[in-house]
Amino acid sequence: MLTKTPKQSWEEFTQFMQDCCTATEYQNWIAPIKVSANAKEELILEVPNIFVQEYLLENFQKQLENFLPLNSKGKLALSFEISAPTQKKAAPAQKLSTPEPNKSSLNTSYTFEHFIEGPSNQFVKSAAFGIGMRPGKSYNPLFIHGGVGLGKTHLLHAIGHYVQQHHKRMKVHCITTEQFINDLVGHLRSKSMDKMKRFYRSLDVLLVDDIQFLENRLNFEEEFCNMFEALINQSKQIVITCDKPPGQLKLSERMIARMEWGLVANVGVPDLETRVAIIQHKAEQKGIKISHRVAFFIAERIFNNVRQLEGALNRLTAYSRMMGLDVTEEIVESTMSELFQKAPHKRVSVDNILKSVAVMFGVRVSDICGSSRAKNVAFPRQVAMYLAKEMINDSLIKLAASFGGKTHSTLLHAWKKISNQLGSDEMLRRQIQMARRNLEN
Ligand code: ADP
Ligand code: MG
Repeated sequence: MLTKTPKQSWEEFTQFMQDCCTATEYQNWIAPIKVSANAKEELILEVPNIFVQEYLLENFQKQLENFLPLNSKGKLALSFEISAPTQKKAAPAQKLSTPEPNKSSLNTSYTFEHFIEGPSNQFVKSAAFGIGMRPGKSYNPLFIHGGVGLGKTHLLHAIGHYVQQHHKRMKVHCITTEQFINDLVGHLRSKSMDKMKRFYRSLDVLLVDDIQFLENRLNFEEEFCNMFEALINQSKQIVITCDKPPGQLKLSERMIARMEWGLVANVGVPDLETRVAIIQHKAEQKGIKISHRVAFFIAERIFNNVRQLEGALNRLTAYSRMMGLDVTEEIVESTMSELFQKAPHKRVSVDNILKSVAVMFGVRVSDICGSSRAKNVAFPRQVAMYLAKEMINDSLIKLAASFGGKTHSTLLHAWKKISNQLGSDEMLRRQIQMARRNLEN
């Protein structure tokens, strides 16, 4: 027995959504939905278009189930009607400005001058630069893909800046895929699609960031594809970034084929030298002095993401300014140790560990692998076992066997003991750190 009418349930739902969406999201997606007058047992919602319906079901299924009546099959007792175009309700004339070709959305420091080249990004950088020089005349589209924080957005904006400076009459628009979708929905809702189409077709260069967000958004995909084709057919330049190559996108074949029309370029992980150069360049940009040694020290430890390198640098600067200290390796280590990534442990072997530990404690490898319980041997043995468990991804039985045939419980015991001691023994911590560094390099 229902105590609430479907309409009341819907009102509770919208109330709830107001608190958990952003205002724009709410305005774009939830506010336009009306309860149809026909509602009796099930809820019939009137939506301005299919996109709103899709968005609601895709994103808020759980919340809907919590608030709305379910039918005998346990499914939402919910259906939709698309509001008839003639029913022009005096909708509050919400101003939907046609986007201006945008200068503002370009990050001012994302320019070619501030992009450091290395073997991992030389190709994509020159492709991007080529586009900047001759928009619409070389490869179209340019599709830039690569992992997080490797400079895709930086290059996209660099093209934008370059075109604005060197082709003053060209209209450039830079947009994230998310913004594009919001824009599309806004215009669909206010029935001003023509305006939007006119705007996009008037552009000379369209820069689209993070196209992967178009995945699973079938209707938007089609709209995007149409616009894409219209622009390319007029030789307008399109540049797209993505976290994966086109073939791996869960998009229609048509869309993937379009992405592959032009040039697909990868931005890779920068090598050590390039990372050092990036740190030095960023430091200079921020007016911080750091030595080559310190830059190297950081670059050696943060290796697969430029954004993290930058984060480390920001943190370091804040700290050294606050404390009035020069940036030294010690400061770097103490302020950022948790940012440092563990190097892949591929080449570390028990043999290497034994040798390192033997040297460090001045004992022989054969002593460590022997059975003496004398403290000057037993302790290094425990340290070596600790390192083996930490650094080598192998079974404890196998690892323990390499210590002259010890059992896995001996190894585990050693590991526990050293782990505990590390908490209070600064000297031991340094020794282990030293051994690790030595083994990893
Ligand atoms: P993505 O879009 O690939 O996730 P971003 O373009 O946002 O990455 O880059 C993350 C940060 O790293 C930015 O501050 C950017 O300036 C910087 N960055 C990345 N690659 C380089 C590079 N080669 N030279 C200088 N800065 C870089
Ligand atoms: Mg990005």
